[in-house]
Amino acid sequence: MIISMRPHATRQEIDHVCERIGEFGYKVHSIEGEERVVIGVVGMGDVTACLESLEATPGVERAMRISAPYKFVSREFKKERSAIQVNGLQIGGGEFIVIAGPCSVESEDQILQTAEAVAAAGARMLRGGAFKPRTSPYDFQGLELEGLKLLRKAKQATGLGIVTEIMSDRDVDMVAEYTDVMQVGARNMQNFALLKSLGACGRPVLLKRGMSSTIKELLMSAEYIVAHGNPNVILCERGIRTFETATRNTCDIAAVPVLNELTHLPVLLDPSHATGKRSLVPALARAAVAIGADGLVVEVHPCPEKAASDGAQSLTLESFAAMMRSLAPYLRLWKEARDSEVAPSAIAV
Ligand code: PEP
Ligand code: MN
Repeated sequence: MIISMRPHATRQEIDHVCERIGEFGYKVHSIEGEERVVIGVVGMGDVTACLESLEATPGVERAMRISAPYKFVSREFKKERSAIQVNGLQIGGGEFIVIAGPCSVESEDQILQTAEAVAAAGARMLRGGAFKPRTSPYDFQGLELEGLKLLRKAKQATGLGIVTEIMSDRDVDMVAEYTDVMQVGARNMQNFALLKSLGACGRPVLLKRGMSSTIKELLMSAEYIVAHGNPNVILCERGIRTFETATRNTCDIAAVPVLNELTHLPVLLDPSHATGKRSLVPALARAAVAIGADGLVVEVHPCPEKAASDGAQSLTLESFAAMMRSLAPYLRLWKEARDSEVAPSAIAV
């Protein structure tokens, strides 16, 4: 349920509504907004009786049932886009954010060289895996803590915020110390212990869609993180598994507008994992801008043929810069379209 208070409802009226909610056996999950307060309610009880009673309570403008099972991430709960604040940027705000970097952090030289080049080309954050989810146990598993330390050095050198993957709930505190955004990879989208532990990590979470997951399942996973206390979730479409073999995954480009209808959370596209092929990345990046994504996650490596993982889909430093130049006219149109919308609001739960 959400309870929308009248503009400038008094503190006493708001407190009284919260009390009534408790009397019906429900819990107040969040109270948002200043001029117009919206109260998020969760729990089990007699919904109809509660709604009817609250509608008649002083200060209440409307009391509504949220029909989506993913309540707090739904557009029903919050109509305006949410902008997530990270390292001085807003993801989901008035700028299309490009996050770029290697699949894996491999060495100091590799990460620093990449960070400097992508920053110069217009990337706004640096990605790089220190913990790698690999299909084979014999493949490179990541530099772990050493990789996190190298990411920190790259941030110090360039000012770019860091996005890195977290694979286990046991590592949350360690990874959160080094990164700005915690990435949950496709393989862990339904690792519920991990999702719950990210509720209290104090960092925004970039949640990638599982390769066999529906959009509803993606939103339910986002709801886990929000329901456990962290409203700062960014979604990422990275391709799903289908019968098609021409690309590594099938990019579900329609997922972007579908998500934009269903949720207020920002949506990024990862054209690298979606295609598995460097030559296809720029075209999908343009598609992402045109279809209204909030940004991109792109793999870039100074020497893709020597990459420890995902070399075939990694852009070189030069081809990344060329892609960024080719995106410029599209980004101007993106900005025009975004500026004509209602301003996004920061989430405060
Ligand atoms: C990655 O970002 O390098 C990665 C492993 O992505 P995904 O979880 O989408 O496969
Ligand atoms: Mn990768």
